[in-house]
Amino acid sequence: MGQNSNIDFFKDEEKLKLIAAIEQAAVTIIMTDIDGNIQYCNPAFEQISGYSLKEVIGKNPRILKSGLTPNNVFEDMWNTITKGKDWKGDLINKKKDGTIYYEEARITPITDSDGKIVNFLGVKQDVSRRKYLEEKLKQTSIRDSLTNIYNRGYAFERLGQSIELFKKKEENFSLALVDIDFFKNINDTYGHQAGDFVLKEFAEILASSIRTYDVLGRYGGEEFILILQGIGKSYSVKVIKRVSERIKESLFNYEDKKIEITFSCGIVDASEIGKETISLQNMIYEADRRLYEAKNTGRNKIIVD
Ligand code: GH3
Ligand code: MG
Ligand code: MG
Repeated sequence: MGQNSNIDFFKDEEKLKLIAAIEQAAVTIIMTDIDGNIQYCNPAFEQISGYSLKEVIGKNPRILKSGLTPNNVFEDMWNTITKGKDWKGDLINKKKDGTIYYEEARITPITDSDGKIVNFLGVKQDVSRRKYLEEKLKQTSIRDSLTNIYNRGYAFERLGQSIELFKKKEENFSLALVDIDFFKNINDTYGHQAGDFVLKEFAEILASSIRTYDVLGRYGGEEFILILQGIGKSYSVKVIKRVSERIKESLFNYEDKKIEITFSCGIVDASEIGKETISLQNMIYEADRRLYEAKNTGRNKIIVD
C-alpha cells in the first residue's frame, strides 16, 4: 500500500475485524483495478444500487450510467484520476431497477509503494434528497404560487436574456403585457376565490397557447407578461387573438356560475426599439403604454403601435 497506511499499526487478527467494521460504512465504496473493473463493493453499494457484489465483480462502473451525467464530467474524472489526482463531482446514476439517483462522488487513485497507480477507490453518497429539495427551492423561487407560471422576477431575468440576444444576434422577439378587464368586478361579484380560479384558468390558457421556448409570467395581480421569442408582432398578435377566442369558447365555470372575461393587451417588438436604445425599462414602458391605450380606448383590444 502507498502512503499513510494506518492498518499496519494493528495485528493481523485485529485487521480483519477493523475491515469488517469499516465495510459497514453508510457511504458506498467501490474499488476497481486500473482498467476500471470492479474488484470490490461494500454492502451499502449493494443496498443503494441494487446490484450484488457477485453481479458487479469484473464489471465496469458504467453499468450505473444513466446517460444523464454530462460526458465532460466523465472526461474530467478520467483525466484527473489517471494523473494520480483525487476527483470530486456529482453523478446522475441509475440503479438496477432503473431508478435515477444523484451521487456525490470522490474517486481516489490508490498507489503502491513505488507510487504506481494500482486501484481506484470510489466513495459515494446518495444526495438525491438534497438535489430534489434544491430543485424544489429553485422552482418556488421562480414561480408564482397561485398560477404556477413564472413570477415577475424570473420573467424579467428572461427578458434581460432576450434583450442580450437581440443586441448580439438581432434575434427579434415580442413583449406582450396582458391585463384582464374589470377584474375587480369578478372579485366583487363572485368572490375572491372565484377570482383566483379565473386567474389560474386564464394562466393555463395562456401557457398552452405559446411554444415551449416562449416565456409566460405573472406580472402582477391580474396582469401577465409574455416573451415570444424569435419572431415579431405578426406572430404574437395571432397568439393573443387565439387566446381571446379560446376564452370566448370556454367560459370559466366556477361552481355553477359562468364567468365571462375579456382582456386588453399591449405588444412591442425589440426591433421597434432598436439595438442601440433597447433596455428592459423601455421595452416594458412601451408595452405598458400600449396596454393603457387599449384600456383607455374601450378595452378588449390589442394595441401594437
Ligand atoms: P381594468 O379593466 O382597468 O384593468 O380594471 P381591473 O378591475 O381589472 O383592474 P384593477 O387594477 O382596478 O383591479 C385589479 C384587481 O385584481 C384588484 C385586486 O383585488 C385583484 N387581484 C389582484 N391579485 C389578485 C389575486 O391574486 N386574486 C384575486 N382574486 N384578485 C386579485
Ligand atoms: Mg391591472
Ligand atoms: Mg385589469
